[in-house]
Amino acid sequence: CGQCVAYCPTGALAIRNDVDKVYKAIEDGKYVIGMIAPAVRASLQEEFGLEDDVATSGRVVSLLKMIGFKKVFDVAFAADLVAYEEAHEFLERVEKGEKLPQFTSCCPGWVKFAEQYYPEYISHLSSVKSPQMALGAIIKKFYSREIGVDPKDIVLVSIMPCTAKKFEAEREEFEGNVDIVLTTRELVKVIKSTGIDIKMVDPEPFDRPYGLSSQSGLSFGKTGGVLGSVVNVINDKMSVKSVETKQLSEGVSLTTVELSNGKVVKGLAVFGLGNARKIVDALKNGEMEADVVEVMACNYGCIGGGGQPYPNDVRTRARRAKILKEVQSIDVLISPTENFHMHQLYEKYLEKPLSHASHEVIHTLYKHRKRVQEDEIDILPLPEETED
Ligand code: SF4
Repeated sequence: CGQCVAYCPTGALAIRNDVDKVYKAIEDGKYVIGMIAPAVRASLQEEFGLEDDVATSGRVVSLLKMIGFKKVFDVAFAADLVAYEEAHEFLERVEKGEKLPQFTSCCPGWVKFAEQYYPEYISHLSSVKSPQMALGAIIKKFYSREIGVDPKDIVLVSIMPCTAKKFEAEREEFEGNVDIVLTTRELVKVIKSTGIDIKMVDPEPFDRPYGLSSQSGLSFGKTGGVLGSVVNVINDKMSVKSVETKQLSEGVSLTTVELSNGKVVKGLAVFGLGNARKIVDALKNGEMEADVVEVMACNYGCIGGGGQPYPNDVRTRARRAKILKEVQSIDVLISPTENFHMHQLYEKYLEKPLSHASHEVIHTLYKHRKRVQEDEIDILPLPEETED
């Protein structure tokens, strides 16, 4: 059913193919803009015998331009922006002493789960949009003006590791931000349909200004990335004495940050909705404590997303995590705070984190959703059990 398709982060229940919509937009002469999520560049190689190629995203940028895309931006740019805003939101909550722990809201699978099963925690979800929706809003609202193109003539194509992102783009509160969402597997179809050998395509950089990202922004592609990025921003703002991360169980890790003023911030990074349920229940019952909690629905985060190529097993995800780390290591910027194009965006349009303009464009509110059927969550198959 439509609800299950929308809910399922693994893609097993997806019945749509949005590839034709992309070709139609190009044929219709629309101003087609692409944007690529961090996790996609860690898995696409598998389909083209490129294995550990760290230039895959650059090759995709070139290829998309060849078939008619006007610009291709990096979702990791928006990940920097989201981490920057989320860190400020967290510090404001600490100052006011309210709605803690703060939960991340980058993963639509988790957000929908929280809306359905834990309505009492909806106000704890970060109000910052996910990188996909934040970048979509910025392009449609600000970039369109800069290039002098009516937002109605822009078709924004987002390339993501899961079908939950298709559902996210269709949420009424994000209407018009992103037009078409392709999964990594659908991008594979696009590339194969061109007949171009991607191995032979010279890489080119993402377009500016939304093509620059830090190592933190790229780390959104795997578990712990959002939390680590928020910690990096806090470190830049307040000076941190020590950061220690330990694994509590499979899919749950605890990061303890000691600030130079002696205060301690506890952050949990959780993957898998089964783990999320356990952790939220433990927080609710007072059996656990945390100030900030990152939740990603898929195993090991977006690198294990259901829109990624098959196989999507433990060994494959470990290799993707390694490639993502290598891609990160060649990035000269470490923290979101160093992203000067992000600061330019604030100077030009958003003023400062949590400003009125920022709230208007890159923040949102979530709401209680009723479950369609009692056992909805239990029907989620693991990615390695799915078939295309
Ligand atoms: Fe999608 Fe990433 Fe969430 Fe999985 S963890 S549902 S890939 S956003």
